[in-house]
Amino acid sequence: MKINKNFLDLEESYLFSTVNKKTREFAASHPDADIIKLSIGDVTRPLCPAVIDAMHKAVDEMADEKTFRGYPPEQGYDFILEKILEHDYIKRGINLTKDEIFLSDGAKSDCGNIGDIFATDNTVAICDPVYPVYIDTNIMNGRKDKIIILPCSAETEFLPAIPGENDKVPDIIYLCFPNNPTGTVASKAYLKKWVDYANKHHSVILYDSAYEAFITDPEIPKSIYEIEGAESCAIELRSFSKTAGFTGLRCGYTVVPHKLVFDNVELNSLWRRRQSTKFNGVSYITQRAAEAVYSSEGQKQIQENLSFYRENAELIFKGVTEAGFKAFGGKYSPYVWLKIPEGFTSWSFFDELLVKCNVVGTPGSGFGKMGEGYLRLTGFGSRERTIEAIERIKKIFAK
Ligand code: PLP
Repeated sequence: MKINKNFLDLEESYLFSTVNKKTREFAASHPDADIIKLSIGDVTRPLCPAVIDAMHKAVDEMADEKTFRGYPPEQGYDFILEKILEHDYIKRGINLTKDEIFLSDGAKSDCGNIGDIFATDNTVAICDPVYPVYIDTNIMNGRKDKIIILPCSAETEFLPAIPGENDKVPDIIYLCFPNNPTGTVASKAYLKKWVDYANKHHSVILYDSAYEAFITDPEIPKSIYEIEGAESCAIELRSFSKTAGFTGLRCGYTVVPHKLVFDNVELNSLWRRRQSTKFNGVSYITQRAAEAVYSSEGQKQIQENLSFYRENAELIFKGVTEAGFKAFGGKYSPYVWLKIPEGFTSWSFFDELLVKCNVVGTPGSGFGKMGEGYLRLTGFGSRERTIEAIERIKKIFAK
């Protein structure tokens, strides 16, 4: 037996374990320190009442022989697919059909699994800094030497440049807006350039819009399909995790339009085949929970939580700016991307913030080489602790 050697090409992921280890060690040696974590990448507010009620009801149905449900359809029950279609697409003027939507246990699985339907010799464009799953899953699939890094810097507001005439053409392009970790959002005009590029070169865009719910400006696209021509070049990955606090419940969906045809084959049929073989669907209780997100009470309740996180991020952005830092994001995103002062690396500034303010951030270098010199702060904490952290940062760093 031989192992899949591609796994040996993966770099150890030290980021969050090192953040936690350093924080634990500091807490042990400073027992009186009141540590505030602005490093949290997970939601902290409980599921909203509409979702909880729907789950209770679904549990009762599962307890009764007449309403009990066994294996769910691999793609999702009609009741949830119809809600997603209507609310997230049709209402926004995007014409998709129910069988183009595939319910899943979250965007992370789909980001990784989607690679199964592409040849291993495809070239893959991935931004830097980036959500690490894109790179690692492509390495696992044997595409290590096929990765083309798209550097993203402050000069271009962390938007990757479209490859030029003489650049290598990526077959697969990962884009994520609002972006993790930089908090950047993309305009319609900018995304149109990627869509035109992909259609021209017959590339596929994998559009991760896990944070779309943070967008409140109607001019900023929530979906890649708001861009003309995207149905023939883009797959969209979405999640209920940050939208409705489902990180522990697990539910997301992926859109694969019929118009995506490569090598004379519809990607929709390949993905359907892949999912029906390797995935057995999302639990009935979770699907009812997701359905409740689209009810009028559900919408109102999730918006309250989203506003709460958004306001936290805005407070952080404002606070660090007042303290003299340059910062990005924090508007249509739970993430604030902080430019750290000259003379520090991401990790040495992480230490500085921990020691001087007892505040924990996430070093930008953990998201890629281009993340060096930055620190990610998040709006997922409590209001009181977020304000306290900002006060401490201002006290230490404001000139
Ligand atoms: N995509 C991005 C950019 C993320 O930051 C995350 C989670 O942090 C995910 C996808 C994964 O979401 P899910 O919880 O649906 O797996």
